Amino acid sequence: MSEVKNEKEKSAGKALQEKLFTQKKNGLLKISDQEKETVDSFCESYKSFLDSSKTEREAVDTAIKLAVEKGFKEYDPKKSYPAGEKVYWNNHGKSIVLCVFGTEPLENGVKIAAAHIDSPRLDLKQHPVYESNELCLLKTHYYGGIRKYQWPTIPLALHGVIYKANGEKVDVTVGEDETDPIFIITDLLPHLAQEQSKRTLGDGIRGEELNVLIGSRPFNDDEVSEKVKLNVLSILFEKYGIVEDDFISAELEIVPTFKARDVGFDRGLIAAYGQDDRSCAYTALEAILDCENPKTTCVTVLTDKEEIGSMGNTGLQSHYLEDFIFHIAKNAGTDAPTVLSHSACLSADVSAAFDPTFPEVNEPRNASYCNYGVAMCKFTGSRGKSGCNDAHAEFVSYVRNIFDSNDVIWQTCELGRVDLGGGGTVAAYVANLGIDVVDVGVPVLSMHSPYEVTAKLDVYMAYKGFAVFFKN
Ligand code: MN
Ligand code: MN
Repeated sequence: MSEVKNEKEKSAGKALQEKLFTQKKNGLLKISDQEKETVDSFCESYKSFLDSSKTEREAVDTAIKLAVEKGFKEYDPKKSYPAGEKVYWNNHGKSIVLCVFGTEPLENGVKIAAAHIDSPRLDLKQHPVYESNELCLLKTHYYGGIRKYQWPTIPLALHGVIYKANGEKVDVTVGEDETDPIFIITDLLPHLAQEQSKRTLGDGIRGEELNVLIGSRPFNDDEVSEKVKLNVLSILFEKYGIVEDDFISAELEIVPTFKARDVGFDRGLIAAYGQDDRSCAYTALEAILDCENPKTTCVTVLTDKEEIGSMGNTGLQSHYLEDFIFHIAKNAGTDAPTVLSHSACLSADVSAAFDPTFPEVNEPRNASYCNYGVAMCKFTGSRGKSGCNDAHAEFVSYVRNIFDSNDVIWQTCELGRVDLGGGGTVAAYVANLGIDVVDVGVPVLSMHSPYEVTAKLDVYMAYKGFAVFFKN
């Protein structure tokens, strides 16, 4: 008999290539139809979260509501908790620590997923309201890294809190309900924009031009000036009982009114405001909510102020996470340094997805791609890794192993070409506590824009990654 080579048999080179080369493949070609359905239904809840949680305060409120439904109780720093107990610690209503106590001794460390719930936006100034040429507007001060030209001529909503002179709190949300009015920042018509068009893109719309239109009808009284402003303030007084001075003790945020929507004929992507970093916040939240009787004590931190450097007592440069560990350590008869030095953290933050329209900003071998799964970023920083946490190979090896052995679809990435720019996450501040940490998150197109885009598969794989981390 002569030897007939099976056509389907791999050549030696092909087999060797498969063994030795990195095999990159679109995640949707790796999962079953059933898991695809799981991805899609998970993302329906994700979209609802995005629509109900457009500010850090709202995200904390939603997190508490969902946590209480799952049996979480408010944390008492004076109590010690048995394995299986679930608690949340609310920090000023703007950041939150959620914890499920494990069966292993706390000395063995805790596992932390840390995401941020603040997003780039426009804050109101403390004296925001003014009238000019019989239109009423609000002065804003942008928060985080926005591209200012993206904010005019889109529908905007106002979210936040106002404290009156007597200390009474008023919650405000206008522009989200279909029957609400919306607000808008105007821009020049092209006919008259010849001079403006000569500005650079970064200077195209300036900070002091981000003025929000909020009224046009005058108060009917010839005796007064600023009639439109008066009319607006009288509406606000009627509705909320506030006066102009109350804006001083307010935190009001202008955000896009856009609801989260599917993108594309195949509905594979999601467009929404605030997916940096609520794609990771929601998935880290769901992972802790689904965490039952873990071996290691597990913690999800949803933090504030990441977009402006993690400052303030609700940001991760402050001590609140360390304080939480201090309390649980003390009540378990151990100490915080022991617990922290054995702890591990996934810094849950988004990465820049490769954009085919702007390929030149990425080094394609090391960029993250939509639908290639949750992205692990060993280091961030600028230029020569300046200011970053560069994760230890040992820790990357651990994460790689648990992801691979639990069918988490994942990829690696870095933030654009080496010399081009850069950025940071909370990873460096978590690492300052002695914790092993690496960045893991969802790739995002148009990051920091009013309408960011993610792939559903990647969002789901972030959830799966955090859940697997808690269990292994
Ligand atoms: Mn982020
Ligand atoms: Mn960001």
